[in-house]
Amino acid sequence: MILRTDTIAALATPEGEGGIAIVRLSGADAQGVLSRVFHAACGKPVREWAHARLYYGWAMQGDERVDECMAVLMRAPRSYTREDVAEIHCHGGRMQVRRVLSLLLASGARAAEPGEFTRRAFLNGRIDLSQAEAVMRLISSSSERGSREALRQLEGGVSHFVREAREQIVDLLAGVSAAVDFPDEVDEAEAAGDLRARALALCETLRRACDERSGRVAQDGLNVVIAGRPNVGKSSLLNALLREERAIVTDLPGTTRDVLTESILLRGLRVNLSDTAGLRDTQDVVESIGVTRARTAMERADVLLLVLDGSQALTPEDEALLRMQVDAPKVVALNKSDLAQALSESDVRALCPEASVLTLCAQRGEGLDALCECLVSFAPAEGAQSATLTQARHVQAAREACAALSDAVAAIDAGMPLDVTAVDLTRAQHILGEITGETLDEDVLDRVFETFCVGK
Ligand code: GDP
Repeated sequence: MILRTDTIAALATPEGEGGIAIVRLSGADAQGVLSRVFHAACGKPVREWAHARLYYGWAMQGDERVDECMAVLMRAPRSYTREDVAEIHCHGGRMQVRRVLSLLLASGARAAEPGEFTRRAFLNGRIDLSQAEAVMRLISSSSERGSREALRQLEGGVSHFVREAREQIVDLLAGVSAAVDFPDEVDEAEAAGDLRARALALCETLRRACDERSGRVAQDGLNVVIAGRPNVGKSSLLNALLREERAIVTDLPGTTRDVLTESILLRGLRVNLSDTAGLRDTQDVVESIGVTRARTAMERADVLLLVLDGSQALTPEDEALLRMQVDAPKVVALNKSDLAQALSESDVRALCPEASVLTLCAQRGEGLDALCECLVSFAPAEGAQSATLTQARHVQAAREACAALSDAVAAIDAGMPLDVTAVDLTRAQHILGEITGETLDEDVLDRVFETFCVGK
């Protein structure tokens, strides 16, 4: 693992115009680079600066003042990367930022790669890999719930859980060694029984801790797919919900949606509402693409919201929708409650006993509160226990570790000598270490940090 200590520089705030922009430096020569570019108004040379104190002054190119700025130096190891870190807070114009950054690059710094600051924080042991990932989750989270979960991870929730699990495996390995090294003192059958029970218990703990769905919902939102035949009021309902909730979430770059999707915040939870193009079997090619997409969306749904026109009796299409087999729970909205009703809850329940049924009027915005409440109730309970593994990469590793532990149990059940299990146990321990980065794998690292942006 190469840890470079050369001095890197990047814009740490978003690109574009703003009140201020922060350009950050990190590395062995951060102090030197800063002193070549920044002159404090008080005249104090950078090497004499107090730790983490802001100084007012100018970014200078020779004798020319390039910008009026504030600057701060955080000395190693009391910094984000544990190296010397400096920040210049300049005016947030594109040209100012570009000029200040090029001054730094001309004065001995190198342009940072994506995620390089956080990568250094990791390589210098300030945070582990799960915490580095949490930084990214925190930056990209679009709901309160997502940010709470990311913060828990950043504060070491995952790290602590993984450390404990790995310690348990070390104990198991110690037991195996004892049985192998002191065969006269340790009863092998008893040791095997003990190991078997403890490996199974650990497996169960890991399994219970895995909750990928909760992580996905916290981070990307609850996927609600709205379905129903034409004219029942799906678009009206979607619009009413969007009007009701002012906070509309802008989609993150890179998330692809097959059908019209709008995201809103409901009770701190991001909810992605997708309106399907209708599910009629059709010969029309364009529409049938829409139908395929609608089906795909339904397969990914956390909740299926079926809209019916309460003023009309059920049609065969409605019945087909109600009977449709999907994994997601169904919520049935009987719309148009302002009109004379031809449909009742019991008509719906007769075909779809498991559904939650609500009556509403999309046009007047009535019944929306109860609907929102109902939708949010389908989000997985927020993991109050920090032990929960919610990030896909962590869940995958925990499952592989479980498989390795199960192999150890299978070896015992097959009557193999106890030391055979050491291979499986070591593997489980290694895989769990990938979550926190204790067992380093360069590919894993690259994969994690390539999702970062420059300046993080
Ligand atoms: P979609 O095809 O399912 O998206 O349905 P629309 O939202 O386009 O609505 C179809 C028609 O039903 C429109 O004329 C709406 O104004 C009307 N509509 C929607 N919701 C209500 C409602 O709650 N009450 C009444 N009376 N009409 C409604």
